[in-house]
Amino acid sequence: MMRYCGNCGAVLREESLYCPECGVKLYNRSRWERIKRMQTRLLRSMDETWRFEEEDIGENRLASFFAYLPLGGIVSRLLSKSSPFARFHRAQGWRLLLPEAILLALGLLLGALSDLLFPSLTRPIRVILMIPGAVLLALLIAGCVISFKGKAVRLPFIGKKEK
Ligand SMILES: [Zn+2]
Repeated sequence: MMRYCGNCGAVLREESLYCPECGVKLYNRSRWERIKRMQTRLLRSMDETWRFEEEDIGENRLASFFAYLPLGGIVSRLLSKSSPFARFHRAQGWRLLLPEAILLALGLLLGALSDLLFPSLTRPIRVILMIPGAVLLALLIAGCVISFKGKAVRLPFIGKKEK
């Protein structure tokens, strides 16, 4: 099968890493597959669903879902205090709360300060704070989706390996 550049449509040689016409970086199929395989292996190494009983997972998905919402850990605890599955997700959920609180406080403080002293900095500060904010939001959403699907996956930054 012929390979074509996705950017300019030039015909490519099987092993080329860059398009000879437009210079765009290419992923040949084997490299792409290697990346895919690495992703799958990484995901599998983070997936600890096997540690939990099916019944536990089935009954406590909602409680696990709540664990990732800000202060939702309290609701989660009320719903199922002793479920190991919900506890796994609460542990991750609680680790989101401190960075969330710090970011919120920082945003309010710096926002107010820059409004008073350096109004021209208000916008850049807001943009900079959006980066960690987006990471936290992504973790929160990932946690909600994963727990609701009945999976126990260690998330980056907030997942901890059990010994
Ligand atoms: Zn090209």
